[in-house]
Order: sequence, then structure tokens, then C-alpha cells
Amino acid sequence: MLNRPLLLIAALLLILLLVWFQRPAPVTEVARTALIMGTLVEIKGVGQDQKHINRAISNAFTAMRKEEERFSPQIESSRLSLLNRTTAAVMVDPQMLELLQLGQEISRQSQGAFNLGLGRLKALWNFEAEDPRVPTTAAIKAILPDPDHELVHIAGNRVTRSSGVQLDLGGIAKGYAVDQALKVLRTAGITSASVNAGGDIGLLGGHGERPWKIGIQHPRRPGEVLATLELRNQTIVTSGDYERFFIQKGVRYHHLFDPQTGLPARGCQSVSVIAPNAAEADALATAAFVLGPQKGLELLEQRPQVEGLILAADGTASVTSGLKGRIQWR
Ligand code: AMP
Ligand code: MG
Repeated sequence: MLNRPLLLIAALLLILLLVWFQRPAPVTEVARTALIMGTLVEIKGVGQDQKHINRAISNAFTAMRKEEERFSPQIESSRLSLLNRTTAAVMVDPQMLELLQLGQEISRQSQGAFNLGLGRLKALWNFEAEDPRVPTTAAIKAILPDPDHELVHIAGNRVTRSSGVQLDLGGIAKGYAVDQALKVLRTAGITSASVNAGGDIGLLGGHGERPWKIGIQHPRRPGEVLATLELRNQTIVTSGDYERFFIQKGVRYHHLFDPQTGLPARGCQSVSVIAPNAAEADALATAAFVLGPQKGLELLEQRPQVEGLILAADGTASVTSGLKGRIQWR
């Protein structure tokens, strides 16, 4: 017969051994950057399997590059370039269809403040030039899209561009690419990640146990944070007059245009929008910026599950009702 105390010790040892082996592996964080859509994109993944996270991040970057190849006006073979070269009906993929439909919806809801037909205006202003200048009023007038005319006609999966208009998805495509990266990470089973494409941010879960702490760029103090807020499982996108601009005769000219005048919209310094997906947040941030603080805030309040922070041209801040008390000002 076996000795009972010995049996007890053996059982205890077995339990200890089991507990030891089932102890979770230590949590690690992997952070990598890549240049996509002219922006330094940073993806962070948190979890236990470093190799797996690395692989998922690589796949997420690949998904974003695919969107760049689809939506870039600079890439000759992109679907967007093809659309901009012909006025015939073009069969488009589901991604292009989704983006154009969302763009049309936000355009309608913002009374045309959001406009996907400003490609020629963007080329005229040419912020990438070495010495950008304000174009003449006549040059601007000659290329502004007619607000009463449909930019693109969508029938099923066929899209026809209105002649005279060049499509530009710069106000929405980066957000869409962030969404695709999130999808890849989620499918890989990653439960804690962030994708930051130059201020277009998508989040999976929290930062480990805690929420992600997001800093909002101060529009007039480069590198400084205006405010912070805590988020989980959401996206936040900022449009600001500090992103792409030049100063001529003491006046700031930036890349967010009022489609009625063809000039930079004057109501805001920056707009940050929180939404369930980054494409929507991206389009709404641009739209609200162009609409200005009052109408911009009204637009954000109308959309379900959307919140936002608007910094007016004079520096006063306003936030949507659901965001009150959730922002830490610096
Ligand atoms: P974002 O940084 O997302 O606000 O996007 C800025 C980009 O959106 C610009 O560089 C243009 O490509 C495009 N854009 C500028 N004005 C408008 C507008 N009123 N509606 C839609 N897109 C615009
Ligand atoms: Mg935008």
C-alpha cells in the first residue's frame, strides 16, 4: 500500500507543475514603421507571440500598399488614374465602390463641403512644389466643379466620371487603408494593436489591459500635444491646417479647400473625429473642417457613434456631447 503523505506530496507537485506550464507567456509589444501613401505609418501590436505579431504587421502593411496602388493619383496603373483618364463607364472593384459611395454620402450630408472632384484644384495649388503660390482667381474659377452637377454616376459596379472633373480621394483614402490594416490584424487574431498613418489612427482593443492614450497634435506648436483622450476599439482621424501649407504675405494657405471658393477653408485650425471606422472618420474630419466649427459640429452630432473635437480658427475648442469630460487638456 502506498504511503498517504507521499501521495499527497506527489499530487501537490503535479498541481504546481501544471500551474507552472499554464502560466501565460510574457506580453511583448512590436512596433514597426513603413512609408505608405506619402506618410510614415506606424503599426504596434501587443501580445505573446512576437513572431506571429510581426507576420501580421507585415501583412497589414501589404494591405495598405494595395490600397495605395488602387487609390493613388500618382500611380498610372491605379484604378483611380484609370477613372480619371476616361469618361466611359468603368467597372470598379468593391473597395473603390465602397469608398465612392461613402464619399457621396458624406458629400450629401455636408451639403457639398466634402467633394471628391477637387483633383484639378489640388493640382493647381500644388502644395508639393518647391515654391507654391496662390493661383489667380480666374484659374481657380475655371476648374471648380459645378456644385449642381453629379461628379460620378454609379450604376451597379460601373462608375462614370463627369467630364471636366478629376477625382481626388486624398480626404478619405488614408482612413480606408487604416481600416484594411485593422482588418488584417483582427483576422490574424491580434486583439491589441494600433495603426497610425500620420494622424489617421485605428485601434484594436486597448493597450494591453488599459485603454490607448491618444494625443491630439497642437495645430500651432509642432510636436506638442493639445489634448489627450483614452480610446478602445475605435478610430480617430485629424484634419488640420498645419499638415500641408505655405505662407504668402503673412497668410496661411493650406490643403483643405472650400469647394465653393476653391480657397482654403477658413473656419478651423483642426478637427478630430472618432468613428467606428477610419474611412468615415477621415471623410467627416475633412467635411467638418470645411464646414467650420458650428456646422461641422452639427454634422458630427448627426452621425451615430461619431464624436469629435473642433478647434476653431480663433483657437476656441468645442466638442460633441458624448466627448464632454473625456478630454484631458494640456
Ligand atoms: P485630410 O488630411 O484627410 O483632411 O485630407 C486632405 C486632402 O483632402 C487634401 O490634400 C485633398 O486631397 C483633399 N481635399 C481637400 N479639400 C477637400 C474637400 N473639400 N473635400 C474632399 N477632399 C478634399
Ligand atoms: Mg480626411
